[in-house]
Amino acid sequence: MDMQKEPGVGDFVLMDKIDLPHFMKNLKIRFNEGYIYTYIGEVCVSVNPYKNKNIYGPEYVSKYKGRELFENPPHIFAIADASHRTMKQQGKDTCIVISGESGSGKTEASKIIMKYIASVTNQDGQNEIERVKNVLIQSNSILEAFGNAKTNRNDNSSRFGKYMDINFDFKGDPIGGHISKYLLEKSRVIHQQQGERNFHCFYQLLSGATEDMLRKFHLTRDSQQYFFVKQGNAARVDSISDKNDYRTVQSSLLTLNFTAADQDTIWRIIAAILHMGNLEFVVDEEKLSMKKSKSIESAANLLQVKKSELERALCERVIAVRGDIMRKEHTVTEANFGRDALAKAVYDRLFSWIVDKINSAIDVDSNKIRNRFKNTVIGVLDIYGFEIFENNSFEQFCINYCNEKLQQLFIELVLKQEQEEYKREGIAWTNIDYFNNQIICELVDNSRNGILAIMDDACKMTAEKITDEQLLEAMDKNLKGHNHYMSRQIKPLEKNLKLKEEFRITHYAGDVTYSVIGFLDKNKDTLFQDFKRLFYSSMDTNIKEMWPEGAQDITQITKRPPTAGTIFKNSMLALVQNLQCKEPHYVRCIKPNDVKSSSLFDEERVKHQVSYLGLVENVRVRRAGFAHRQRYDKFLKRYKMISQFTWPNFRAGSDKDACKVIIDEYQFFNDVQYGKTKIFIRSPQTLFALEKVRNQLM
Ligand code: ADP
Ligand code: MG
Repeated sequence: MDMQKEPGVGDFVLMDKIDLPHFMKNLKIRFNEGYIYTYIGEVCVSVNPYKNKNIYGPEYVSKYKGRELFENPPHIFAIADASHRTMKQQGKDTCIVISGESGSGKTEASKIIMKYIASVTNQDGQNEIERVKNVLIQSNSILEAFGNAKTNRNDNSSRFGKYMDINFDFKGDPIGGHISKYLLEKSRVIHQQQGERNFHCFYQLLSGATEDMLRKFHLTRDSQQYFFVKQGNAARVDSISDKNDYRTVQSSLLTLNFTAADQDTIWRIIAAILHMGNLEFVVDEEKLSMKKSKSIESAANLLQVKKSELERALCERVIAVRGDIMRKEHTVTEANFGRDALAKAVYDRLFSWIVDKINSAIDVDSNKIRNRFKNTVIGVLDIYGFEIFENNSFEQFCINYCNEKLQQLFIELVLKQEQEEYKREGIAWTNIDYFNNQIICELVDNSRNGILAIMDDACKMTAEKITDEQLLEAMDKNLKGHNHYMSRQIKPLEKNLKLKEEFRITHYAGDVTYSVIGFLDKNKDTLFQDFKRLFYSSMDTNIKEMWPEGAQDITQITKRPPTAGTIFKNSMLALVQNLQCKEPHYVRCIKPNDVKSSSLFDEERVKHQVSYLGLVENVRVRRAGFAHRQRYDKFLKRYKMISQFTWPNFRAGSDKDACKVIIDEYQFFNDVQYGKTKIFIRSPQTLFALEKVRNQLM
């Protein structure tokens, strides 16, 4: 096998000694020699190579197609193939969970997986399936244009979580799919840190649009003119051609059935947001008004609403007091807040609308092939990795909570269930310690006194306006003494906390200090009702469609919409539930350094990731564990034919005894243990050998 020619070992389970130093040594040797994939059993560890590798072409596809993991050198194709094969042969839903921190290669991995699946399916070239494959693949460039941005970690960082179900027919060909998105980082629309950009689409429009189009949108090509895209001072990115990307997005939109009118709506909204960023307010003789500029007219024009009404919605709001309708003028602060909330909301709605449109092009339910046959699913999860920034806010809090949930799932599925099964079956086993992060999940999402619940309580109190500082006080009161929670108010001299508005969570992946400022506003996520009504009145039917609740009568609105935190928590619970009922495959991505170098293996950085991902524990559980297990009756049914003692029937004892006879005959006794109801086989090679004998006899 090729495997022997590779540096180090292709599966960490085969290391001489299992500890962190040996793990690091093996990973480093392989990275330095250009081998980016290594297994832990069926988990694929992937190190970002930071250069294009010639290992994804057709010859690689045919090498991995229909093969078992251990037959070829480690490769992400093998994981994709295993997932596809399990689904096809056993009719089980599977999923591929890709995790790792920002810039570790998750999104690239998910694209490689999708391309692999596309290239091994639809051998008879059916048009409809070809169409679905195209939609699945081309949806990426659209989602990346509107959902990705340059950050200081990654030039093409996904700022939303993505889970994609691909539906397959009984032949294993893709017949549809569905994309779920999680929490878009919409605050980026109005603010970017130094060195970062807004979402790609803004720069794509300014670089790629024709002169004609720019004129129509009242825009100039110079991004420096627009406050919402210039704050990070990083409009140009070496690795990105906004102009080319604009063209790619346009052609993908076309493939995905976006009409000319749809495309027009999309770019008009982007242009309108650019104009909104330049709106300013002044107070003159105690009266609030807009500072004179063309921007308001342009924005109203592009969104196809009346200028006077947009202006009014930005400067005052309508409130219902005991059934009476009154107008209340904003302060400058409120007006600025309203404008920003509006820009964020308009963008967020646009993004959701785009995702919905993509889904309607591939949803199985709306497809003709629907339910003609039972269909099975492969889910691919590419969600934001653990994040620590200079300033961490509500967004990082949600993102890191999401990673806690996924780590919990990994523990449940890979570490815990495995060990529990050995215990249940009475297999000799020494327990392997690992850190169970359930306690951190509960710190955040416990419905009684978790941080999200405390935040929601604070948001409910509208009578006296509660400040972020008061929120922190409430958190401190409830969480004092929790091992994973700390703040300056609890321990005044705590070194890692500079300010009294900060709190710290000890996450499974390390300490993160969050600034509580802005938490309540972001959680409440208020958008004045006036805006909703205004956009519902837009002459653009697409925009109208994005704001359905604008139809509501203001006096009828009594229910508070759920908070952003609660929506996110519920979406995470649903995600975990969904993944739990699928057979999981894991890709664990590692970032070799912070400078995007293809040759630097930063030991400290890598060691930290290996530790918090629990990879060494994963190897221990795996090595002590068994690659295959099967109920005795099933095993016997399959292999009774390979032994003269069991064929056609075994009369000298139980199914278990019969299995023992087969194993003894082929001298695999060192590789096998017998549980209460199942046979456990340590190495895949043993099963492979049994299969071979069986095939020869058939
Ligand atoms: P993440 O989604 O984890 O934040 P990405 O998948 O966007 O990270 O990867 C960041 C960058 O790293 C990519 O833009 C690409 O330049 C590089 N990269 C990641 N994986 C690969 C790969 N398999 N081959 C080549 N380059 C890669
Ligand atoms: Mg990504």
